[in-house]
Amino acid sequence: MATISETIRAPQVRQTQCFIGGQWTPSVSGKTFDTINPATEEVIAQVAEGDAADVDLAVEAAREAFDNGPWSTMDARDRGALLHRLADAIEGELDELAALESLDNGKPIRDSRAADLPLTIDCLRYYAGYADKIHGQTIPVRGNYFTYTRREPVGVAGQIIPWNFPMLMVAWKWGPALAAGCTIVMKPAEQTPLTCLRMARLAQKVGIPDGVINVVPGYGPTAGAAVVKHRGVDKVAFTGEYKTAQIIMRDASTTLKRLTFELGGKSPNIVFADADLEAAAAGAHFGLYFNQGQCCCAGSRLFVQDKIYDQFVDKLVSMNRARKLGNPLDPETEQGPQVDQAQFDKIMHYIDLGKKEGAECVSGGARFGDRGYFIEPTLFAGVEDEMSIAKDEIFGPVLSVLRFKDLDEIVDRANNTSYGLAAAVWTRDVAKAHTLAKKVRAGTVWINCYDVFDAAAPFGGFKMSGMGRELGEKGLDAYTETKTVTVSLS
Ligand code: ADP
Repeated sequence: MATISETIRAPQVRQTQCFIGGQWTPSVSGKTFDTINPATEEVIAQVAEGDAADVDLAVEAAREAFDNGPWSTMDARDRGALLHRLADAIEGELDELAALESLDNGKPIRDSRAADLPLTIDCLRYYAGYADKIHGQTIPVRGNYFTYTRREPVGVAGQIIPWNFPMLMVAWKWGPALAAGCTIVMKPAEQTPLTCLRMARLAQKVGIPDGVINVVPGYGPTAGAAVVKHRGVDKVAFTGEYKTAQIIMRDASTTLKRLTFELGGKSPNIVFADADLEAAAAGAHFGLYFNQGQCCCAGSRLFVQDKIYDQFVDKLVSMNRARKLGNPLDPETEQGPQVDQAQFDKIMHYIDLGKKEGAECVSGGARFGDRGYFIEPTLFAGVEDEMSIAKDEIFGPVLSVLRFKDLDEIVDRANNTSYGLAAAVWTRDVAKAHTLAKKVRAGTVWINCYDVFDAAAPFGGFKMSGMGRELGEKGLDAYTETKTVTVSLS
């Protein structure tokens, strides 16, 4: 590991309370929870542990700001200007926020700086531009009537996010909600509340009116569930595990809330022998090990065509050997720790299962170091479709490499999963690439690339990987209701 002088200094933690109606408050119960530095297992700070009582207050503030407050009456263009100012404020504190993200989540500072922060800023700017461009249609109808539609904000949006991209998930949720004119009650992940709270502070600083954004840190079954069940919340946007989405769907059924889900995956990444193999290996490696393997769209089922299989596995193994693990705040670090003990344990369990089920662990397979939740980049060769490591989402640095023969065979195998978030194909054959793009049941298909995200490109899942889409123009659908107005011209 690098010495302290070579590393980024740990940032100061300034916000640890609930943010409700523009006020920073302890939780009603007075309880707090620890947020842990996953690289050292030490407590970074105690954060207010909100529950149903705090959610009640947050919803009241959000309702007031929506029903009577300044947000619904503000010109859309002015709302857009505020979103731009929030993006600028985040950009102004980029280094500090990147360090805070790495401290709380464990992701390497080079990734926070190069990916999380720029994508966060870009997303907010993209939706800032949309605020005054959300409009309805005029519709020719039978008879002497004039009919038009209005796209109105859905109301108070409950937003529940995970810990793998804490700031970026805030941007994906706040951007379209604020552009559409909704107000927000957000429940950040209990593992990583710090950057969300800092973003709320910046939102207040740039002039987003009190009550428009409310943040209640806390646990899922208490604070999260209270958001889902609350009658004053019109819509819930959730990113996380499908099992949690099933609970949310049940909890939301009483009030028939609008729901959007972005869930997990077991995405197939398919490499044909005619691909640019250097690029494919780099893409396959990045597609799985990026962010410690903690990506919902991780290319965790790597299918490699028979004749290049061994050479391709060798390439990946040598990349794993060269990978630099260590202190996330060291700019040289390429892989940090997993986010917490629970994730660490789950991943180690799957590594064990992979070995027991007969896959060949050709790289990694063990804990790295004796402090922090570090796991060696792990690669299993000889993986079969029915093995647990080929079927279940592991959400860690564990790559399963499977063999395939040809195009006919691979389509069915790629689709043989209840997930459908992403897929990728590597080939120089245009027809093959587009045939697969058409036949794979997934919300995103990358051809000769992986993990290419843009605020303008819709993202979401087929099947059990989600409901609805985030990003792009489509991402606004979840935050608007269509109202039809008909006027008699007689
Ligand atoms: P992960 O395994 O990635 O932590 P989860 O689905 O458990 O995924 O968590 C994602 C988010 O959902 C977190 O903010 C968590 O607190 C929240 N959450 C967990 N359980 C519930 C629940 N029953 N109701 C609402 N939110 C929940």
